[in-house]
Amino acid sequence: MRPFYIDYPQEKIAEHQHAYRCLHCKIPTTIIFGLLENHAKDCVYRTHQGRWTQLEASLRPQKTHFDEPLIDEVD
Ligand SMILES: [Zn+2]
Repeated sequence: MRPFYIDYPQEKIAEHQHAYRCLHCKIPTTIIFGLLENHAKDCVYRTHQGRWTQLEASLRPQKTHFDEPLIDEVD
């Protein structure tokens, strides 16, 4: 199941009675529809959430941090 992102800050669209949009990228909620990729690419909310998604992905086994040799005790 796809995660839905609906906790982004919203503001009322002045020219529409019952419409709201993302406070950061000004894209209407009806277009965003709870999906992160429907925010603008430079949307603060999207980049913030995206960072966590990337972090999660980077936490999967990759072993890029093991450059140091473990043969330290041989003296
Ligand atoms: Zn946004």
